[in-house]
Amino acid sequence: AEKIVITVDGPSGAGKGTLCYALAEALNFHLLDSGAIYRVTALAALRKNVPLDSEAELTRLASELDIRFQPVNGEVDIILEGESVGALIRTQEVADAASKIAVFPQVRTALLQLQRNFAEHGGLIADGRDMGTVVFPNAQVKLFLDASAEERAKRRYKQLQNKGINGNFAQILAEIKDRDFRDRNRPVAPLKPAEDALLLDSTELSIEQVIEQSLDYIRKKL
Ligand code: C5P
Repeated sequence: AEKIVITVDGPSGAGKGTLCYALAEALNFHLLDSGAIYRVTALAALRKNVPLDSEAELTRLASELDIRFQPVNGEVDIILEGESVGALIRTQEVADAASKIAVFPQVRTALLQLQRNFAEHGGLIADGRDMGTVVFPNAQVKLFLDASAEERAKRRYKQLQNKGINGNFAQILAEIKDRDFRDRNRPVAPLKPAEDALLLDSTELSIEQVIEQSLDYIRKKL
């Protein structure tokens, strides 16, 4: 039988992570967090002092890395060469480095098969920037979740506040805009909706509304 893939693309902070987790639960599908793959590769580059502007060295690194995903208590941990790095890749520094190495076509190609393998074991929710356009162009359902940069910065600011961290709003907004610019304007696999994607804008919607609208659409398509 044909494996079902649902792609969810969009910028950081639009609510993709929460949406994808909810969809995977509701449909009993697997989850691919493709951003985590770019983040792990970036973490490895930072640790091994691989220059973030050397496509050749980064490509070699990306093709040699041993990256695994391991379920723990309903969540997925990421294992880099035997070490749990799920928490370490969530820093701003790693996010920034990830978006820098993600501009290189050969780095992206080196990470392609690892991502496609996730569709081998039944239904998949694929979360990223180019899931519907490059990695799974034949996916049965494609969603693109957007939100204004200001709204995404507000959410990030609140998230930090809830953790007891007092962020700088202007700086958070600037970082979001920088990363967006790199993601949307790179020549290869830029962040953009697939032609056949449903566009959702979460600026004015609650996460519950986004989940409901997505599930309605998915049930019609499948
Ligand atoms: O989604 P997340 O914030 O974890 O992604 C980190 C960075 O990895 C993004 O800013 C983007 O540059 C890159 N990325 C990508 N393609 C994907 C997923 C992430 O280029 N499919």
